[in-house]
Amino acid sequence: MWGYFCLNAILVILIVVVGFYAIVGITLENNARDRVTRAGRDMAAALKTGVSSDLTDEILNYRGEGVNFYIFRTDGKNLQPADFGGVYDELFKEIENRLGDKEVGKDKFFRTGNKINYALVAENKNGEIRYILASYSMSIVRETVGTLQLWLLFAGGIAMLLALLFSYEFSKHLTRGLNVMSEKAVKLAHGDYEVEFINANYKEMAQLSDSLNYVRDEVKKSEDFQREILANTTHDLKTPLTMIKAYASMIMEISGDNPEKRNKHLQVIIDESDRLTGLVNDVLSVSKLRSNMEEMNLTVFDLTELVYAIVEKFGYLQESQGYTFMIDIQPNLYTYADEEKIYQVLYNLIGNAANYTGADKTVYISLKSNFDGTINEFFVRDTGKGISEEELPEIWNRYYRVKENHPRPVKGTGLGLNIVKAILENHSFVFGVDSEVGNGSEFWVYFPAVPPEVYNEINNSENK
Ligand code: ADP
Repeated sequence: MWGYFCLNAILVILIVVVGFYAIVGITLENNARDRVTRAGRDMAAALKTGVSSDLTDEILNYRGEGVNFYIFRTDGKNLQPADFGGVYDELFKEIENRLGDKEVGKDKFFRTGNKINYALVAENKNGEIRYILASYSMSIVRETVGTLQLWLLFAGGIAMLLALLFSYEFSKHLTRGLNVMSEKAVKLAHGDYEVEFINANYKEMAQLSDSLNYVRDEVKKSEDFQREILANTTHDLKTPLTMIKAYASMIMEISGDNPEKRNKHLQVIIDESDRLTGLVNDVLSVSKLRSNMEEMNLTVFDLTELVYAIVEKFGYLQESQGYTFMIDIQPNLYTYADEEKIYQVLYNLIGNAANYTGADKTVYISLKSNFDGTINEFFVRDTGKGISEEELPEIWNRYYRVKENHPRPVKGTGLGLNIVKAILENHSFVFGVDSEVGNGSEFWVYFPAVPPEVYNEINNSENK
């Protein structure tokens, strides 16, 4: 990580230094050009108006600014600076070459060595043609810039050193935090759910810590769930198995020859086996629904018939245990769903109502179409103790059981409502429960209605 930081710092500093070199170079050159142009044109104007006879004042003024002037006649004699030895002949030729004809106002830029030159053709107040050359030497400026650049290099070096140091410390800090986190993640992977991911130094790291803590909680929950499912199922399996073994022994040793007793004991074995089957089926359903392994087999079917069939299943409670099922079921109501799973849902809800209803042992079941016939509303109500407000959201969870003893005419595993919830959510059906302590509970499911014509049409085409 430190390597990347260093590279980054070096790149930034290099860009700044090179940029500075380029910008300073270009700016200086442009400034010099502006300066000689301005000076040259000023001088041409002074020449034309003839403010002073030999322009010495102007020339001295500009010299102060670093601009030197040369003024020539067209025959090559230089008027400024005064010279009698032909020292400037070369220069004159150069100017004459560059300017070509002697048209007033014509001008040209050119460089000679370190100098920026501006030559132009002008005339004096008598209309005589003169060549003016304004020349600016960049050498002093270059020297200053050179010193500046040296300083810049020096400052750049220091900045680089500081950047390296800073990034070293920063990356050390950052990687230390990351290393601690990854060590903790390994611990978590080995099953230590006590690890706490803490890192509040940087926002992103804090977010990562939060996510990892969340992962830890979820993994722990899932592990707890597995442990719980194992504990609960083994416990629930043990009771019927003990019963089966005990009654089988009794038949062998005591009741084998007494048909009445034997049948009674055999019935217990059958009931307990049913309980076992139910339990195993529930556990399978939960794990399949949980991993979305079970596919939905959607069909249009007769909901009225299905509810009747389930109520009939509970007929033995009416006959042998004094239960009453008050039903209010509208005929010919159809829906589109997975029939087998809806059977499971309604069986669980009605079974729960029977389990938890009050002393009157009454369960109310209704299935009706709503006002505009778009929804078939199923309700099952009991007269039991009801469910408290805090417990209401919990009952849909796996293995949740309200901590009280209930009479249990129907087998229960604590998985029923969880299966109900998973199935109805898979169907995207609306469902819920209304309950109040002391006033019983009412569970309801809204099924989308399929019109009888559609149902008949499908049935007819299937029978053809
Ligand atoms: P169980 O096999 O224990 O009935 P469920 O998942 O079907 O498991 O129900 C979970 C818990 O919700 C039950 O243990 C019970 O405490 C509560 N419950 C479910 N239905 C009713 C009801 N009709 N009246 C009161 N409590 C209920």
